[in-house]
Amino acid sequence: MTIRALLTTEVGQTKSSEIVDLDPGVLGEGDVTVRVEWSTVNWKDGSALHRPGVVMRSTPLVGGIDLAGVVERSDDSRFSPGDRVLVNGWALSMTHHGGYATLARVPGDWLVPVPDAFTTRQAMSIGTAGYTAMLAVLALEHGGVSPDSGDVLVTGAVGGVGSIAVALLSALGHRVVASTGRRSQSEYLRALGAAEIIDRAELSDAGEPMVEPRWAAAVDTVGSTTLSNVLAATAYGGVVAACGLAQGRDLPTTLGPFLMRGVTLAGIDSVNAPQAIRLRAWQRLATDLDAARLESTVTEIGLAEVPGVAAAILQGGVVGRTVVDVGR
Ligand code: NDP
Repeated sequence: MTIRALLTTEVGQTKSSEIVDLDPGVLGEGDVTVRVEWSTVNWKDGSALHRPGVVMRSTPLVGGIDLAGVVERSDDSRFSPGDRVLVNGWALSMTHHGGYATLARVPGDWLVPVPDAFTTRQAMSIGTAGYTAMLAVLALEHGGVSPDSGDVLVTGAVGGVGSIAVALLSALGHRVVASTGRRSQSEYLRALGAAEIIDRAELSDAGEPMVEPRWAAAVDTVGSTTLSNVLAATAYGGVVAACGLAQGRDLPTTLGPFLMRGVTLAGIDSVNAPQAIRLRAWQRLATDLDAARLESTVTEIGLAEVPGVAAAILQGGVVGRTVVDVGR
């Protein structure tokens, strides 16, 4: 028996990906074998497949930082054949073969049961992006932000993390301000629950370290000068969850927002988050995310289309979430 996989190879400064038949023996360490049904394309997948020297630390490697499917074989007493499971992050697509294959072998410690509320496809339409959005919401709640606190800003709102953050926050009763470079997607954002849409150009250039407060909290997927401007306009005692670096990994700010307004900057990491936090985030996704709103963010593709979508996501060209039918 062979498995079908999208294998990425890095030679010098060039990465290329092709669909191949692999011997399951190459899958690597792990006590649970999962028949993968669905994967996704996140920003990090774009980097893994197309940016030399980034994400993948071994070559050739099967990409895909997310997977969901059914346990086929388990030497871990917590899991049995037939269980529906998912993996977000850990070493997938870094040093370990990832979700772009019909079979995966992983340590049981990486597995999260797919909540009853979701199909494996829905779990991957959430994927790392949606789980990260939930981690950000939990960070705002931990900082005391409630719907009464005031507006919550989401940057990179049409992207994967942004779309699900908008849907989650509005479902929880917050008034959501969505920042986007794609005003053509205003209807999409309003359908997800955005109450107000602003142009990302308002936030992208270097600005004053502190300005008139505009929001009580924010989920930022963009970083760089955008995050500086988000902090500058956060109200007294507000919380900003820093999730991403779509604009850049720098943060040119001052201590003003922290020392004069008591603003909290909460860092969000999905890759190595402890299991208890993952389980909490997935429980909350199961109760707080409206399935119909989630489906409105989804585009479905087959394995052969992954490299193209992975390139497009790095250009800011993908709307919402992409699910990958790995058997197609
Ligand atoms: P997407 O490409 O789906 O979303 C990114 C969005 O950012 C785009 O849709 C666009 O939104 C906006 N954007 C892109 N380029 C720029 C730019 N130059 N300036 C301002 N805005 C820009 O990616 P994901 O949602 O998957 O990931 C978003 C970010 O979050 C990435 O940086 C990713 O690495 C990070 N991330 C971090 C995780 C963690 O564990 N901390 C986990 C998952 C993701 P619009 O068109 O609306 O302007």
